[in-house]
Amino acid sequence: DPDQGAILLELQKTIRLASLVILLIGMTVSVLFSHTLTSRIRKLLKGIRQVREGDYGFRVNMNGHDEMADLGDEFDSLAERLQTTEEARRRFVSDASHELKTPLASIRLLSDSILQNPEVDTSTVMEFVRDIGGESERLARTTEKLLSLTRFDNKILSKPVRVNVSVAADGALQILKPIAAERNVSILCDLGSDCYALCSEDDIYQVVINLVENAIKYNVRGGKVHVRTVRQGDDILLVVADTGIGIPEANLPYIFDRFYRVDKARSRETGGSGLGLSIVKSIADEHGGSVTAERRRQGGMRFTITFPYCPADNSDVDRHDTQNDE
Ligand code: ADP
Repeated sequence: DPDQGAILLELQKTIRLASLVILLIGMTVSVLFSHTLTSRIRKLLKGIRQVREGDYGFRVNMNGHDEMADLGDEFDSLAERLQTTEEARRRFVSDASHELKTPLASIRLLSDSILQNPEVDTSTVMEFVRDIGGESERLARTTEKLLSLTRFDNKILSKPVRVNVSVAADGALQILKPIAAERNVSILCDLGSDCYALCSEDDIYQVVINLVENAIKYNVRGGKVHVRTVRQGDDILLVVADTGIGIPEANLPYIFDRFYRVDKARSRETGGSGLGLSIVKSIADEHGGSVTAERRRQGGMRFTITFPYCPADNSDVDRHDTQNDE
């Protein structure tokens, strides 16, 4: 039938045209798709290069809801993390150098004034030399604190052992008693039994020394410092309370920051570096504990540091029961 033949031919033509159109659409779509994909990869590559060169503020801000967008988001949060770390590092270096520069400048000034003054009398020389000694002691203390902070930052830590916090605290308090007596401050102790924590004895020493030294330093003449250790469920609490000048509410959020001092002038006079409390916080964090500071209603401060309790049958740790078990 010629009619049917014509219809079939027509149909064949339409099908051929349709396939061609579909093929063209498919090609266009795939070209477009691969173009957007490469441009997004290029964007990500650019980001990687920028951040590698030190431009930590660069973000790719990839749009969409696919894997490429996820990759972009991951990259951005990685860059943000790097930026925060880099800023903290810069701040730390600049604070640390400032901290070291000040006593060095005083030493320089004091030695210059001796050298440029040939007629200076012995008692003045002695006084200046004593000041130089004081400044170098401050330098030594600051560098020691900086070193112990770096130790925490770099996670260079001794293997944790089972430590009797009460015994370690008592040991540290023996060192502090003469300093307290000199300032007419009395230390009261209330050290509980079964206060075992998984940490290092040196760290407990450091915590007690830093907190109690502050409690003595920022106290009034005839004031008191109360040191208490107690087991409370799964926690060991070490509480240092004082009858001193206290810290204003507004300054409380910052006291654990490195180099932070409430009263810059006064603290410098007392030899403070603003590092003591940040070391306490690093130690608490390191051992899975916490530290809090609160103002006492009667005046003065109360610092509470907690460590997770370490029961006696903790078989995977070395025994280190310091001396007498209470
Ligand atoms: P610093 O070496 O200056 O004492 P810290 O980090 O130990 O540094 O303390 C930070 C600041 O917090 C101190 O400069 C001081 O102003 C304040 N501070 C710390 N402990 C006490 C306290 N017990 N009473 C009053 N102020 C305190």
